[in-house]
Amino acid sequence: MTDRLKKKLAQLASKEVGKVTFSELLSRHNSWKVGGRADLFIEPENTQQIARILHFVHENEIPLVVIGQGSNLLFDDVGVRGVVLKIGQQLAAIRIVGNTIVAGGGAWVPQLARRSMQAGLSGLEHCIGIPGTVGGLVIMNGGSQRKGIGDNIVNVTIVDKTGVIQLLTQEECDFSYRHSALQGSGCIVVGVELNCPAGEIKQIRREMLADLQIRRHKFPRKLPNCGSVFLSTTEMHATVGPPGKVIEDAGLKGLRIGQAEISQQHANFIVNLGGASSADILTLIAQIRQVIQENIGFNLGCEVRYVSPQGVIKPAHL
Ligand SMILES: Cc1cc2nc3c(=O)[nH]c(=O)nc-3n(C[C@H](O)[C@H](O)[C@H](O)COP(=O)(O)OP(=O)(O)OC[C@H]3O[C@@H](n4cnc5c(N)ncnc54)[C@H](O)[C@@H]3O)c2cc1C
Repeated sequence: MTDRLKKKLAQLASKEVGKVTFSELLSRHNSWKVGGRADLFIEPENTQQIARILHFVHENEIPLVVIGQGSNLLFDDVGVRGVVLKIGQQLAAIRIVGNTIVAGGGAWVPQLARRSMQAGLSGLEHCIGIPGTVGGLVIMNGGSQRKGIGDNIVNVTIVDKTGVIQLLTQEECDFSYRHSALQGSGCIVVGVELNCPAGEIKQIRREMLADLQIRRHKFPRKLPNCGSVFLSTTEMHATVGPPGKVIEDAGLKGLRIGQAEISQQHANFIVNLGGASSADILTLIAQIRQVIQENIGFNLGCEVRYVSPQGVIKPAHL
């Protein structure tokens, strides 16, 4: 860390910005359990504090990474030279009135899905097994069964990269498959308003239980992982099947680099056998892509995002 950065981070930490920790281990904050230390780790308590932080880092050109549960992120072993901002429990309120659900950016997605079911609202059944926050889900337009959270969104409240609070409509977010216009904009999702049609509680519960059962059966649960590593494309799905099948058909299940292994249970998952490095995982990703490209001519793209030490977030294959 340079002297200038050290001074600026100390200045930021002395402001009212929430809970601050210097040199926090990032492997504690992602589901792969990988990553070095962040110079400054902040857990803000409200939107005003987030706006204050963003204004400061923008003015002072300090690298900033925002995270939720870290269930879709690969941190580098070197960590992050700058600020990591975690949006979590302090911004996790969920309120339901009629067909409208208002949730904080830090709300836990399975909890959001459960609350909607209890209120007799449908549309979020596909989210019940996604172990992330609402903010992370919105940015990724995450979901399952080829649905995305964007389908039910009315508007999203963000703090933009300069620290200004804004309300964006569904159209402005421009949701498409696992994509939104918010990606790469440097904004932080602090809240969301969803509209969900009424449904029958029993039926909604049945669908959610079925989804959870499939996940329990198909996905590795005991070893740290980041969910599906590669994205499915319509063309690939129609011709050779989803990435898990393609990787399995190529005989790669169980391939291991260091302590990272292609799951024996589901080939689109990479598991951490204990102490895997970011380099182990990135090398394994590169090898899978090379084999698939050579075998069947498809370029697999990553759903998982890599966070560089400079705080740049990109799909892990880039
Ligand atoms: C076992 C397992 C199963 C999974 N199943 C699915 C699935 O079925 N469908 C699916 O879509 N995903 C799935 N995932 C991936 C992941 O859970 C989702 O992408 C989730 O929505 C990410 O949320 P997060 O809070 O963990 O975000 P993080 O991983 O912390 O961050 C992901 C991205 O969102 C950004 N971000 C996070 N919070 C905010 C915020 N408040 N404002 C702005 N940007 C933010 C980060 O900067 C990063 O770019 C799975 C993961 C695991 C481990």
